[in-house]
Amino acid sequence: MTDSLTGFPPTTTRRIIVKVGSALLVAPDGSVHRGWIESLVAEIAARRAAGQQIVVVSSGAIALGARRLGLPKGGRATLEDAQAAAAVGQIALSQVWADLLATHNIAAAQMLVTLGDLEDRRRYLNASATLDRLIGLGVVPVVNENDSVATEEIRFGDNDRLAARIGQAARADAVVLLSDIDGLYTANPHSDPDATIVPVVEKIDAHVMGMADGNSASGMGSGGMISKLQAAQIATGAGAHLAIISGKVDAPLGAWQSSGRGTLFRAAKRRGGRKGWLAGRLTVKGLLVVDAGAANALKQGRSLLPAGITGTSGIYARGDVINISDADGVLIARGLAQYDSSDAERIIGKRSDEVAAVLGGSPRVAMVHRDYMVLL
Ligand code: GLU
Repeated sequence: MTDSLTGFPPTTTRRIIVKVGSALLVAPDGSVHRGWIESLVAEIAARRAAGQQIVVVSSGAIALGARRLGLPKGGRATLEDAQAAAAVGQIALSQVWADLLATHNIAAAQMLVTLGDLEDRRRYLNASATLDRLIGLGVVPVVNENDSVATEEIRFGDNDRLAARIGQAARADAVVLLSDIDGLYTANPHSDPDATIVPVVEKIDAHVMGMADGNSASGMGSGGMISKLQAAQIATGAGAHLAIISGKVDAPLGAWQSSGRGTLFRAAKRRGGRKGWLAGRLTVKGLLVVDAGAANALKQGRSLLPAGITGTSGIYARGDVINISDADGVLIARGLAQYDSSDAERIIGKRSDEVAAVLGGSPRVAMVHRDYMVLL
């Protein structure tokens, strides 16, 4: 499967994220699939020698730690179990990556991030700069969620979306999800014998989302097909291709290139730094509902004025990220609020001169300025 426009996936693609699922790394008896990792690391070394830059997003900490501690339900029975399992598993996991990369004279770097680290703009830029520096130093970053401190409400919970967000932070050209399933199927292949694999997805619409039924997780990691599609939305929206391919064979990247089997989600146009970050945000503080006129204006690239807003919900401060939807609840855009929610409640539906009268002085014209807004 080669994208003739970008040369993806061959070695001409400059920077790729390779995400490895738990079931590929950890055997049911708790041992690490060392031989398989060796085969992948050899591929990574060869691709680097050919000029490609690689970042690994490695799952498996919880699965590995749980087996070592003898915890039930793969360490996911309680949050405390998962956090303890992750702490034990992560140190072992990093050791394996570091050892195997060292056999090719490549230094490994461990980066553990939380959802908050990538949702906060300043911390996101910081993580982005660190990734850049590590890659520039010829190191292979091995990234995972910081599961031993991230709490339920502020977790990614799956490394698919984490990989997409890291892809965005690293300005990667492609994100490859190595999985125990070899791609997106038209229906769940375990229950529907007529399901067929979808080789290329140009646009992730409701029809494509409907193909995932959420039941396709292996039971070891936590990312089913839905989280993979969400990851594809984030990555393609940020201008990176995303591929779901099988990791159930040795040297999976080469196997994919020769078989072509997998699903490629083609990148949309690359968005600028701040807009790309906004589009990939997973948490927002509030919602504005707009009328049809404002919805049209937004689609033509204009700012959102208070007059076109019919409702606001959530508690947000100036500068917080909020969603914008039409009257039917369809999400149109996401942007930074120019007013606190308490002021927004007072000015929605009002013309600019009325806004000035309500708030006094000469307030900011837009509720969400187009420079700080991205259409979804
Ligand atoms: N971060 C989790 C771990 O290392 C894996 C999340 C996932 O299954 O995608 O165990």
